[in-house]
Amino acid sequence: MAFLHCAVLVRPGSVAERVRIETDAAGRIARIHEGVEPVTGDLRLGTVLPGFANAHSHAFHRLLRGTTHADGGDFWQWRDSMYRVAELLDPALMFLVARAVFAEMLVCGYTAVGEFHYLHHHSDGSPYAPAHGMELAIADAAREVGIRLVLLDTCYLDGAIGQPLSAVQRRFGDGSAAGWLERWHALREVIESDRVTLGAAIHSVRAVTPTAMAEIWRALGAGIPLHIHVSEQPQENADCLAAYGKTPVGVLAGIGMLDARLSIVHATNLTPADRGLVSASGCTVVMCPTTEADLGDGIGPAFELASGGTPIAVGSDQNAVIDPLLEIRGLEAGERLASGRRGRFMPAALLEAGSVSGYASLGISHSVLAPGDPCDLVELDPASVRTIGSTVSQLILTATATDVRRVIVGGAVVADSGRLANAGTRHPEDLLAEAMAALADA
Ligand SMILES: [Zn+2]
Repeated sequence: MAFLHCAVLVRPGSVAERVRIETDAAGRIARIHEGVEPVTGDLRLGTVLPGFANAHSHAFHRLLRGTTHADGGDFWQWRDSMYRVAELLDPALMFLVARAVFAEMLVCGYTAVGEFHYLHHHSDGSPYAPAHGMELAIADAAREVGIRLVLLDTCYLDGAIGQPLSAVQRRFGDGSAAGWLERWHALREVIESDRVTLGAAIHSVRAVTPTAMAEIWRALGAGIPLHIHVSEQPQENADCLAAYGKTPVGVLAGIGMLDARLSIVHATNLTPADRGLVSASGCTVVMCPTTEADLGDGIGPAFELASGGTPIAVGSDQNAVIDPLLEIRGLEAGERLASGRRGRFMPAALLEAGSVSGYASLGISHSVLAPGDPCDLVELDPASVRTIGSTVSQLILTATATDVRRVIVGGAVVADSGRLANAGTRHPEDLLAEAMAALADA
């Protein structure tokens, strides 16, 4: 049980002063009172927002940051570079990388991450012994750092539509939907704990046939969040149309998968018909504006989908940028550039995308800092060189991760001003350097 006192608490659509939060033994909010003074012993915080959710991450892609910009090319060329790194990872190295990247996320204000994970096996495709080496390494990394993790264990069966896995992709595969389901259920027995849960993902229509997708959809329980990459690149749409006579969204709709359990990632290149199907479905769209800009994917129809009632969440995806504030306002930046209009996403809508929609997409909670929700918070400096003069409800459009002060997960401080709370002298940049040195030796 803990007591926290926020001088100012900014939630989507509301700003409250002198807010006292009581948590239970599990780090969930038990009671919350506004307009009250702090009591001796309270953890006294300044300007506080809900913790940010990173609803789509591939932690190891962080290793490519700052190494590919002189290469030119396109998404597919970048993917070749990424595969060369993927080949080198084993559970020990994955642990170092995930720990470092999760540490970076945490000090930057991400309190929860959905890790979309498909490096399951040895590079020849044989399973690790003991089992689940990669997945347990990622879970251990999250536990050590203190970030909330939903491991989105990913089914990846084909190299492209109608093609087997290539040599470098062999370690992604489980042979069949049944093979993936068997491994997923066995993993669930051993991985979950207080702050680590197991979700599910299908890589894309490129990697899993509609028949296999339907099998997975039927087999997973209703409470399991399921994520899938959709229409990041025009080529995916063209290949899907050629093979199945439908767009990727059309394939999902045909299976009956478009509902509130599902999150579709990117949704950059949707047809008007796709947008109608998504808007009517209740599924969440996870956009990754910094990655979509970095890889030249395009600007997705975020505002149109949001206007139709679709929850929009965000993810750092390839982790070329880890900054929840830049990620969230990338939604609005794309809209302004494409539409010539300001305020397509109002500040409250951006905060909702960064917090509650991401938490809901990952199956963690469906409201913002209500009793029963995890007590995950981020304290921002409202008087830094970047933020001073900002209306508190608009800090989300002026602050960066550099302005993140204390980060709270489950009612406890896990990071403060760029430093992990429980790591002694181990700073995120030291952990990243250690991971990169290990990669260089791999
Ligand atoms: Zn991705």
